[in-house]
Amino acid sequence: MDHASILRETSRRLGFDALGIASAEIPAGAEHLRHWLSLSYQGEMSWMARNPELRADPRQYDPKAKTIIVAGVSSRQTTPPLRRGRIAAYAQGSDYHESLRDKLTQLAQQTLALWGAPYRVCVDSSPLMEKPIAAMAGLGWLGKNTLIIHTEHGPWLMLGSLLTSLEITPGIPSQDHCGSCTRCLDACPTQAFPQPYILDARRCLAYLTIEHPGPIPEEFRTRIGDRLFGCDECLEVCPWNRHAQQSRELAFSYVTRPDLTEMLAWNDTRFRREFRGTPIFRLKRSRWLRNICIVLGNIGTAHDLPALTTGCRDADPLVREHAAWAVAQIHARATATMPTTNN
Ligand code: SF4
Ligand code: SF4
Repeated sequence: MDHASILRETSRRLGFDALGIASAEIPAGAEHLRHWLSLSYQGEMSWMARNPELRADPRQYDPKAKTIIVAGVSSRQTTPPLRRGRIAAYAQGSDYHESLRDKLTQLAQQTLALWGAPYRVCVDSSPLMEKPIAAMAGLGWLGKNTLIIHTEHGPWLMLGSLLTSLEITPGIPSQDHCGSCTRCLDACPTQAFPQPYILDARRCLAYLTIEHPGPIPEEFRTRIGDRLFGCDECLEVCPWNRHAQQSRELAFSYVTRPDLTEMLAWNDTRFRREFRGTPIFRLKRSRWLRNICIVLGNIGTAHDLPALTTGCRDADPLVREHAAWAVAQIHARATATMPTTNN
């Protein structure tokens, strides 16, 4: 077997759902990054604007790299949550980064290391344009929702890479199969796509509920609905989900959490204890409670008012302001549904 076949076979055994191989060169579409940044579509994610040349060219990150091996694990969850409030599929269990890093390290040790090839493991925080590289590697195409679309796993692949100085025959870049479909663009609750293939992160609920540090602009609060963390709308509607199965990765398995009002009463110590090792941990208590207040403002009832009223006295001004907004929303809904009396 050649190197590429051994890598594919080993990756399957380790639990990866897809693998692609690309030459370590500037991927097609890398030039769009500058334009995207010039429009400030990255919002407060200032790290994306740092060193765009380095991000665009893998050889600037690692001058010895000849090949990039991109591997993906599906995060698809087919079981609905048991409690109020939705969490993005990839964040329903524990933090997948560690598990992905472990798998990639095992893949490298069982292949590249045996061949005497130096390697570097890259997961998320590395300055690589993972999605254009994955498309170049033949893993899938960059869909109109800006995600990698795989013919079997749809838009659900979480990606990690191995950079190596070994030359391996690259895969064939994937063709775009979006065609005339616009489902993801039409389904977006905030019209976050100014045009197909371009995302204005400042309008995206995944960005607003996770990355955005301060108060959520009022124009987006009702559109958040019951989303506590992230948004899967433009993934769920993709027709390339038709063959996508429930993820086999244990890190993504759904963990049942207490009800929203109970979590609203947690102090920082409790928050840290409950969420350490999960994607939610990075929000810290402040943003997590902010999100809970918005969801309660959208779906809560009079039963939730005592917990929210306590939230209005929280030491954190972000929590106080969002709790007050939620109380006002619940009162406004109750007034709107009150029967009118005819005199
Ligand atoms: S994640 Fe949600 S809000 Fe963001 S672009 Fe997709 S559908 Fe729109
Ligand atoms: S929903 Fe349609 S347009 Fe959007 S990524 Fe999927 S196939 Fe492409």
